[in-house]
Amino acid sequence: MYDPKSLKAEEFINHEEILETLAYADANKDNIELIDSIIKKAEERKGLSHREASVLLACTDEEKNNEIYALAEQIKKDFYGNRIVMFAPLYLSNYCVNGCVYCPYHMKNKHIARKKLTQEEVRNEVIALQDMGHKRLAIESGEDPVNNPIEYILECINTIYSVKHKNGAIRRVNVNIAATTVENYRKLKDAGIGTYILFQETYHKESYLQLHPTGPKHDYAYHTEAMDRAMEGGIDDVGLGVLFGLEKYRYEFAGLLMHAEHLEAVHGVGPHTISVPRIRPADDIDPEDFTDAIDDDIFAKLVACIRIAVPYTGMIVSTRESQKTRERVLHLGISQISGGSKTSVGGYYEPEPEEENSAQFDVEDNRTLDQVVNWLMTMGYIPSFCTACYREGRTGDRFMSLCKSGQIQNCCLPNALMTLQEYLEDYASPETKKIGEALIAKEVENIPKEKVKAIVKDYLLNINEGKRDFRF
Ligand code: SF4
Ligand code: SF4
Repeated sequence: MYDPKSLKAEEFINHEEILETLAYADANKDNIELIDSIIKKAEERKGLSHREASVLLACTDEEKNNEIYALAEQIKKDFYGNRIVMFAPLYLSNYCVNGCVYCPYHMKNKHIARKKLTQEEVRNEVIALQDMGHKRLAIESGEDPVNNPIEYILECINTIYSVKHKNGAIRRVNVNIAATTVENYRKLKDAGIGTYILFQETYHKESYLQLHPTGPKHDYAYHTEAMDRAMEGGIDDVGLGVLFGLEKYRYEFAGLLMHAEHLEAVHGVGPHTISVPRIRPADDIDPEDFTDAIDDDIFAKLVACIRIAVPYTGMIVSTRESQKTRERVLHLGISQISGGSKTSVGGYYEPEPEEENSAQFDVEDNRTLDQVVNWLMTMGYIPSFCTACYREGRTGDRFMSLCKSGQIQNCCLPNALMTLQEYLEDYASPETKKIGEALIAKEVENIPKEKVKAIVKDYLLNINEGKRDFRF
């Protein structure tokens, strides 16, 4: 029985409910009257149910699809303005005891180089990341209770926050590690993490069991219920995602939204972020083996429909995607992107020799952070290195209520401009700096409240003089 309030995976992600949702969406994909009413509801910016959003995703009418894209773009503008938050992944260890068939870190892969960073190496990676200009990281690690126990992860987090190199600082560490216990989530919370991210990979239980044939991750319920344990452990902000290409995308879309509805129903706060990774080539992995891979048009439609369905949830796209694809989806709903990423263990400090590949996937967008920042600004976006909410204790339902009332907007633009100014002063190339300063001079005038505008102008002068870390 489908029950969004249940704590049992198979009840809040209910297979029959998804099948009925897909049948309902198929039956109504040309029902213009219904589609109009769903779009009208979405215009209220309060989100949509998985059933309603699934109808929009299935819709094939060109005119209605254009309305869906236009609405996604408008919602993106209303909630996130032209700001894009920047982050980088940091791979700690690729030792893993699981057998995920789509990931080169799976246990049986004997030809990938296995690496685990020492604390000295973590420090080197963090310095390299700080020297690029990053302030926000997502740490990644395989699941291995012997090589990467929770104590190792906690030690790494501690090391990351402790590195102060020149004007650099990592101000927010998000964590992407395997499903774990309430007790371990509590430890992560105490270590000061930002978002806990765990991709479901697929919501389709039968496929899930086949794709995860061995290891602790084989346990579908334990994996699917992880976010409830994380929240029970005190983590306010959780990030969802599926790996598109493993199963039928419409099934995953409905499952993803049901998961969001479940978190809202049980914990009173939906996911902080949703990531939309697609399967990529990697050592031992050929995307051609996965017949449910989605093309760029479907990818864009998914981003637009997620944006409309959960307006308050940030959306992340990584360097798995090309510059062209990232450009296409930025205005449809993406609010966070990575830049200058390395997906190998230890890849920032020292590039890996080719025969020693430890990467989780091939990066499609290989540009440096400076190039990505420059590109964003040339398109009129404001790259933001802001981490203020988490540091001001604006997390979980507190964050969501500020989001829903629109008050968060009073913080985001000033913080984006000030953190961009820091970046320009400390790390940007001369050309990027020139573009950025012109952008900041223009955007500062768009701060609606005169008092805030005056404070920001004063802080910007302070940043020019070498002071750092101003925030609202
Ligand atoms: S997806 Fe995660 S759990 Fe699975 S093999 Fe890769 S690193 Fe291990
Ligand atoms: S103020 Fe908060 S919501 Fe806005 S960009 Fe900064 S951290 Fe994100």
